[in-house]
Amino acid sequence: MNFSDSQIVGSIMTDHNFETTDNIAEADLIFVNTCSIRDHAEKRVRARLQEFKKYKKTKPGLIIGILGCMAERLKSQLIEEEKMVDLIVGPDAYRDLPRLLTIAESGQKAINVILSADETYADINPVRLDSSGVSAFISIMRGCENFCSYCVVPFTRGKERSRDPETIVNEAKDLFNNGYREVTLLGQNVNSYLSESGTGFSRLIASVAQIDPGLRVRFATSHPKDLSDDLLRTMADYHNICRSIHLPVQSGSDRILKLMNRKYDRQWYMGRIEAIKKTLPDCTISTDIIAGFSSETDQDHLDTIELMRWVGYDYAFMFKYSERPGTTAEKKYKDDIPESVKSERLKQIIDLQQELSYKSNLADVGKSFEVLIERYSKKSGKELAGRNSQNKVIVFPESNYKPGEYVNVQVLSCTPATLRGSVLHP
Ligand code: SAH
Ligand code: SF4
Repeated sequence: MNFSDSQIVGSIMTDHNFETTDNIAEADLIFVNTCSIRDHAEKRVRARLQEFKKYKKTKPGLIIGILGCMAERLKSQLIEEEKMVDLIVGPDAYRDLPRLLTIAESGQKAINVILSADETYADINPVRLDSSGVSAFISIMRGCENFCSYCVVPFTRGKERSRDPETIVNEAKDLFNNGYREVTLLGQNVNSYLSESGTGFSRLIASVAQIDPGLRVRFATSHPKDLSDDLLRTMADYHNICRSIHLPVQSGSDRILKLMNRKYDRQWYMGRIEAIKKTLPDCTISTDIIAGFSSETDQDHLDTIELMRWVGYDYAFMFKYSERPGTTAEKKYKDDIPESVKSERLKQIIDLQQELSYKSNLADVGKSFEVLIERYSKKSGKELAGRNSQNKVIVFPESNYKPGEYVNVQVLSCTPATLRGSVLHP
């Protein structure tokens, strides 16, 4: 989401005659797009700011701006705490950047952290920073009103609002015409996408899939409470809507899910997994898990472990609970699980996921997949890497093919993280 937002900022700044540079020492302006989701994310931003101090010394006119969730959460407090910061801009105020910059250039501190009920930046054509030219993000909605008790996002990103479907389809068409072969539709909860004209997510994704069978469509993230059968059927209808669903569970314990205000229970979640497996048998499933939420007992933790095994996740993002100021959890529940217990539980979760991912990859050895080539492999320039529809990375020896092309690859071996194979010639 932040990556996508940075591209919007890139576009606004380009329109005002700025250009990007790879050489930070040469920059007149440094923007840091920030995340507040966990304390660790904010600490990293503050460490990064320390690095910028030296550039302030060598370049007195240098302007440093903090954008995004941390700007929204801390507002002017951030300027008091981090003196070198000149500009604080929340996620809905990027159109105001040129004006704010003029203020900063005059030596004053500039702040805009007003949240909006309708800003979607729909008319702004993102500058594709650091892009492979093959795969791109399209932000389709902003904000979140689910108020999971641990989560800061509803406070930093404001009300939920959906972008007009035509602007989304046009953006995807433009990308396809410019050689892109994959788009990922982004939102905090894409399943609750609903345009003012009444278009829901299933219809939207079908319209994007219809642009061309050679354009892959992905989406993130789905909230389990609104993953509909209708969406699963739409996915089954289109070969180019990718067979991979990210369905964050957070915990396997009903008591914890209730405290988290996730609005589903274990039974409901398992029902959704069964529906995915029935409608899309070749679909991979990934998740997010939080270890050590307030009052989590060993039994709650074991419920999570057991659910992970039952689902057999192909992939997971796993975190220690981090208490966030202003959230319901911070106000009502104690962050009472000792750090050492959080770490131990997280380790067990990561170890299990490693085992599950390996098992999932081993099951693919011998199978063939259509792979969209994205890049030359990071480790050796002599290999190509791409993903299959299931979102697994497959690496194979260089051939006459290049990024942006589809090839059929047979998987010959794997690690827990990667599949390796060779191109099947027709
Ligand atoms: N909207 C998405 C999640 C966005 S945040 C959804 O609900 O699925 C990405 C992930 O960060 C969450 O799924 C959760 O696992 C994690 N997360 C959010 N707040 C957290 C916190 N306070 N501590 C630890 N992890 C957190
Ligand atoms: Fe946060 Fe919950 Fe919204 Fe996801 S759905 S962004 S976890 S409040």
